[in-house]
Amino acid sequence: MQMIGIKNLYDIKQLTKQNILDIFAKADEYNINRHSNILNNKIVANLFFENSTRTLASFEIAAKNLGANVITLNIATSSVNKGETLQDTVDNIAAMGVDYIIIRHGVAGAIADIAKQNNNYSIISGGDCANQHPSQALLDAYTMQKHFGSLQGLNVVICGDILHSRVAKSNIDLLKNFGVNLTLVAPEVLLPPVQAREDIIKYTTHLDDALFGADVVMCLRVQKERFSDDFTLSIEDYKAKFCLNKARANIISANSIIMHPGPVNRGVEIDSDVIEDKKSKIIEQVSNGVLIRQAILSLVG
Ligand code: ASP
Repeated sequence: MQMIGIKNLYDIKQLTKQNILDIFAKADEYNINRHSNILNNKIVANLFFENSTRTLASFEIAAKNLGANVITLNIATSSVNKGETLQDTVDNIAAMGVDYIIIRHGVAGAIADIAKQNNNYSIISGGDCANQHPSQALLDAYTMQKHFGSLQGLNVVICGDILHSRVAKSNIDLLKNFGVNLTLVAPEVLLPPVQAREDIIKYTTHLDDALFGADVVMCLRVQKERFSDDFTLSIEDYKAKFCLNKARANIISANSIIMHPGPVNRGVEIDSDVIEDKKSKIIEQVSNGVLIRQAILSLVG
C-alpha cells in the first residue's frame, strides 16, 4: 500500500496539498467499495477523553471496514478515574500491542506530545481541545469538493464559536491553502483576538451580510464547556443574530450548501427546518466521515 509518509496525524498543517488530495482520492475509492482487508491483524484502540458520537463511531466503523480489530476504552470506567495520567494510559494500552491509537483529549497539545515520541504505533487525533480536529477538516473539505468539484475560489462562511472551535481552526488551516475565500462570523467575543487575525480572512459580526455570495455556510456550536468562568454570552442575543434560520438560508443560492460538524443545538446555531433543507449536507458529512477516516487509516502509519 502506498502511504503518504506521515506516521501520526495530529494537526492538519502536517499535510501538504498533495497529501490532502491523496486522502480525498482514497476516500473516493472507498465510496465505491468500502470493504478491504488492509488492516487485517491490526489493532486500533480508541481513547476518547472527551464526549463524542460521530468521530468515535466513525473511526470504529472505518477501522472495522478495513479488517482491523478495534477496542474502545470506556474512559468513564477506566483507571483514569484512579488518577492514571494520559501518558501512562497510552503506554499501557500500547504495551498490549496496538497499531493505531486514536485519541481525543481536552489538554491542548497533549496528543501531539505523545505523537512526537518515537513510538512503534501511530497516533491519530480525534480532536485536540480547542486546537485541532484534522479528520473533521478533511471530511468537511471533502464534502465541499464532492459538491463543487474543486475548492479553489469557493466563498466559505464559518459562523459560530470560532474562538473555542477546533473544527474552525483546522478548517481554516486547510481551506486557506486551497484558494478558498474565508469569512468568519461570530459575536466579537467569539472571534479570534484582533492580534491573531489574518489579512486573507474576513471577520465580521454580521451574518446576513456575509451570506450574500456564500457557496458554503458552516454553522458551529457554541462551546459552553470551554468558556472560562468569567466569560458571558447571551444565548437569546446569539440566536437572534447568528442562528441560521429559513430566511437567512434563503439568502444563499440554490446550489450553495449548509454544513455543521454536529452535535447540533437546534434553534441556537441552526433551525430544524434548515437542517432538513435540501441545501443541507449535514448527514452527508457524517457518511463522508467514515470514508475519510478509512482513507486516513490507509495512508497514515
Ligand atoms: N464535534 C465537533 C468537535 O468535536 C464539534 C463540536 O463539538 O461542536 O469539535
